[in-house]
Parts: sequence; structure tokens; C-alpha cells
Amino acid sequence: KTFPGDFSGNPMQRNTPKVLFSIVDPAGFEDPKMIIFNEELSEEIGLGKFEEKDFDFLVGNNLPENVQTYSTAYAGHQFGNWAGQLGDGRAILAGEIKNESGKKTEIQWKGAGATPYSRHADGRAVLRSSVREYLMSEAMFNLGIPTTRALSLAFTGENVIRDMMYSGNPQAEKGAVVIRTAESFLRFGHFELISAQGEYKTLQDLLDFTIKNYFPEITSEGIQKYKDFFKNVSTRIADLMVEWFKVGFVHGVMNTDNMSILGLTIDYGPYSMMDEYDLNFTPNTTDLPGRRYAFGKQGQISQWNLWQLANALHPIIKDEKFLEDTLNAYGDYFWAAHDKMLCQKFGFDTLLESDEEFFTSWQALMQELQLDYTLFFNQLEKLDEENDLKLLFSDISYSFLTKEKYSKIEDFAKKYRLRLEKNRVSKEESIALMSKTNPKFILRNYLLFECIKEINSGKTEILDKLITALKNPYIEIFSEFSQKRPSNYDDIAGCSTL
Ligand code: AMP
Ligand code: MG
Ligand code: MG
Repeated sequence: KTFPGDFSGNPMQRNTPKVLFSIVDPAGFEDPKMIIFNEELSEEIGLGKFEEKDFDFLVGNNLPENVQTYSTAYAGHQFGNWAGQLGDGRAILAGEIKNESGKKTEIQWKGAGATPYSRHADGRAVLRSSVREYLMSEAMFNLGIPTTRALSLAFTGENVIRDMMYSGNPQAEKGAVVIRTAESFLRFGHFELISAQGEYKTLQDLLDFTIKNYFPEITSEGIQKYKDFFKNVSTRIADLMVEWFKVGFVHGVMNTDNMSILGLTIDYGPYSMMDEYDLNFTPNTTDLPGRRYAFGKQGQISQWNLWQLANALHPIIKDEKFLEDTLNAYGDYFWAAHDKMLCQKFGFDTLLESDEEFFTSWQALMQELQLDYTLFFNQLEKLDEENDLKLLFSDISYSFLTKEKYSKIEDFAKKYRLRLEKNRVSKEESIALMSKTNPKFILRNYLLFECIKEINSGKTEILDKLITALKNPYIEIFSEFSQKRPSNYDDIAGCSTL
């Protein structure tokens, strides 16, 4: 259905009842300038090579006749509360493209102008947030983590007004547009919206469509099909959370409108990679002091989000016991997968009963000593009898290692060595397991900060280097990128808006 009302000129529009999407055109920009184009992705999804004349498309200018652009309506629970109808406020879809092997990919602009779902906002994006979206989604992809991807990043030539720190002192920033791609951009919120409006026939249609197109592994029929779907989504989400924990990714705003039904990482806003290990770390300044979306809570918040999805699907599935059982099973599944992942990070070939205690004491050690999460595991690979522990760990600590703290590291190392002796694989195999699970490069917040500053001043040296590094995260290419966050960035450590 197309948007029925008076969107033109009325960006305050909010309610779009009984509407799943609206036809909307990108705003168009007079003086755009390309910053990055992802040739590899373009080839892969079937868009092929781009020529100079095609670049207009990347900001939504001069679209081909046969492209019908639109934005979708969804709803969501934000910070634990029902927020009602939302929608693509600054995302416009160009549709779907099929590559040679038949794989379909949706393409959308982010920041190309207002839509019927923009509410009071402008539908624009600033360079800062666009660079963050582009680079982090590509970093996640190269880490092997399910995610939306980025095809291009361009200046729009416009300025956009933002009050970054809510200081009451808005500033002009350079505007930008990113094109992102995904097999589908469907979110939990799409299902929640239709369900909340009581449109159960449409809800079932959307479920059928989603299962047929994106869940080929589901072959059951009738109500069982929808049950298998809910189970499948739960598993995908649990797997995704384990992947986030593996690399120290903190999403920052896990509202249900930011939860992909396919289990992709989506909506790169106030995210940050974690430097010093801290279960309470949140990069989202609007999530203080509640820390709902802190690093250590991402598993349980996902379960809460799945509970909202269960509510939305209840009118179709109708089986409360099944939904409850599936939600309860999420915890067991998540922890089993989580512990297996930790085993790999430590180089253990199998999980032993005693490992639970080992992991718990390790977690307490990390939390207390403020060691760098990524570098800790990199150093652990180098741990053998001869190594000087002080040398290995003092450089990765964000606090001074007192004698007392140091002796805790010694105790841990002793325990770790004893545990390694129980491995049934060789030392080499154990190290190999570690080095493919523990990245040598992560896209730290301060690196993004420097990169954005540099692009703003017209240079792309850091950008080019970061792209090289993020394509090969499991090897160290630039030693300066595999260090802990320098202390002059401590002020911005937990603040991803900068
Ligand atoms: P987020 O917290 O990024 O998930 O955004 C929540 C909602 O606000 C989504 O529906 C977005 O589409 C919308 N939104 C965020 N920023 C803008 C913007 N600059 N213009 C219009 N809508 C926006
Ligand atoms: Mg969002
Ligand atoms: Mg967002």
C-alpha cells in the first residue's frame, strides 16, 4: 500500500495506519562527492562495475526509470517501552537485485532525505555517523559476523545541523549518504507493528513471505512452520550475541526496531568495540545510568526482545507453552554456545566441567584489572613457561598493575597452564584455534574518531589503512593499530557520538 496522506511538506507526520510502506523519493543532492565505493561488494551482489556516470545513483540522484523507491513502516520497543509506530526515518529502499547465482540483495540509502516516518527529524545523516556505519559494518563482515554491509559512502554537499552532546549548541556538520545492503532489512518491529494493529491476515502473509524467501531450511507446514520460524530466529539471535561477545562488540541501542529478523547486526549507531574489559560498558550516552544495553547484558536483552517478538506472533502461533518453552530454551542454548566460544578463545579443544569456574574467575580478574579484552587473548597466545608475565600484561592494562594485582595474574597464568595440560590436542593446534578466534585488529572507537577527523579535513590516509586492516582482522598488518587505546583518548573512550 502506498502512503495515503499528506506527507509532502509535513515532516511531522507520524501515524500511517494500515500502511506497510510508502513510496518516497530520495531528496536529491546538488553537489555530491564520492568518498568510498565498495567494488568487491558491488560485484558480489550483481551490480557489477561502476562507471563515473553511475555514481549519481549512490546518493539517489537521477534514478533509472524502473527504480521504485520506498520506505517501510515498523514499530518497536525502545529502552523497554512500547514506542508504537516508527519506520524508516532516514532509510529509503531502492529494491532488490539478483546476482548470477540467484542470491537476492536489498539496497537502501541511509541519509537521503525525509520519509513519512521521519517524525520531527530531517532524514539526513552526518559524515560522522555515515563513516561509522560504513566501516563498522564492513569490519563485522570481515570478522565473519552476520551483518548488513556498506556499498558506498558519499558527501551530499549539504550541511546538517546536529547537537551532538545535547549541549543546546547545535553545529553544522557535513552531510553524507551511505548505501547499505542486506538480504533483507526486516526487523522484529515490522512484525510487532502489524500485530499491534490487529492485522493478523497480513501478519501471516508477512510470515509466509519471510519464511519462503529467507528461511529455506524451514520445510514444515501449518502452525508448525511458524513455530519453527520462531525457534530459528531465537537460535540465530543467540548465535549473533555469542559472536558479539567473541569480539567485544557493543551495539548500544538494541531496541526491537533494531533487531534483524534474519539475525544480522543492523543499525550502527552508538556502538563501540570494547577496549578494557567491562561488563557494564555502554557506549550510548543516552543509556546512562540504566546501562540497559551494556556489553554484559546483550544476551539477556536479546531474550527480552525475543519475548516481544513472541507476543507479536502469538495471534498466529497461539501456543503459549511453546512460546514460553522456546524463550526458556534460549538461555541454555546461548550459554552453551557462549562457553564453546570462550573455549576457542582460550585454545581449549573441549569444554570441561571445571571450565565454568575457570571462566567465572577469569571474568572477575578482567573486570578488576581493566585489561584490554582483545589484547589479552593475543598475549595469551604468547604465554609459555619462559615468558615474563609482567612484560606480557603490563602493556595491555588500563590501570597500574600493583604487586597485588600482578600476583593475581600469576595465579591465573598458573591455572591456565594447568588447564592447557588437559587439552587432547597439540600446543600448535590449540594456538591455531586461538588465532582464528581472537582478532588482532578491532575497529576501536578512537581510530574511528581520528579517521572521521581526517576525512573532514579532506584526507583519507587513515581511512585507507583502516580498510586494509579491517579486511584482515585476524592478522596484524599495522602494529600501531594493535595497541591498547592511547591514554590521550581516555576522555572519549565510552562515547561513540564523538
Ligand atoms: P535508531 O535509534 O537509530 O534506531 O532510530 C530510531 C528511529 O528514529 C528510527 O525509526 C529511525 O529511522 C529514526 N531516525 C533516526 N535518525 C533520524 C533522522 N535523522 N531523520 C529521520 N528519522 C530518524
Ligand atoms: Mg534504528
Ligand atoms: Mg540508527
